[in-house]
Amino acid sequence: MAIWKPLLDFFLKPNCPLCDRPTSTTLCIYCDRQLQSEKLSDPRQNTTPFILAWGNYSGTLKRTIAQCKYHNHPQLGYYLGELLGQSWLANPPDKSQILAIPIPLHPDKQRQRGFNQAELIAKGFCHRTGIKLNQSLLRVKSTEAQFQLNPTDRQQNLSDAFTLKSGHKIQGRSIILIDDIYTTGATISAASQPLQNAGVNIVGIAVSAIARLN
Ligand SMILES: [Zn+2]
Repeated sequence: MAIWKPLLDFFLKPNCPLCDRPTSTTLCIYCDRQLQSEKLSDPRQNTTPFILAWGNYSGTLKRTIAQCKYHNHPQLGYYLGELLGQSWLANPPDKSQILAIPIPLHPDKQRQRGFNQAELIAKGFCHRTGIKLNQSLLRVKSTEAQFQLNPTDRQQNLSDAFTLKSGHKIQGRSIILIDDIYTTGATISAASQPLQNAGVNIVGIAVSAIARLN
């Protein structure tokens, strides 16, 4: 039997989710090289809260996120989280004892997709940085796809969309919010409401991709 194992491994080897070449890593070396070239050299915007973005929402990064979310490749979310963790470690904030909170999906949406990409990004991120994952934030309102809406409607669509789990223990804690894409900040601002009401200090936002709007 032993002689067949390499052959079996060859056939079981998953293909690169971006180009379909066989690979033993999450992405093949060609796609990984392409993705790595899109990493921002200056990923942190010193706003309050600060925004840390691994890359711009374009090119291979955009395709990687789409493959993750719409073609059932959850491993890509975890991998993007590890990359985001590297950017964090290269640009560490002066705060310690931070918790990482992923932007949740509505349970119906999560059931449909099978996973929450932001949670997977947060898990990869936490694995790389040693920061603790916290999942006290819940999405209680199913919202329409945001990209079809203008800024005012986005805000309206998102009001009261988020709440905190009962019995959460995050009062007074410093946290960062983690998501896949930062566009207008409407989702982040809606998710921030229940956290701020509970006296949580949001020090930053960490995302895999930032969409530059004109
Ligand atoms: Zn590839």
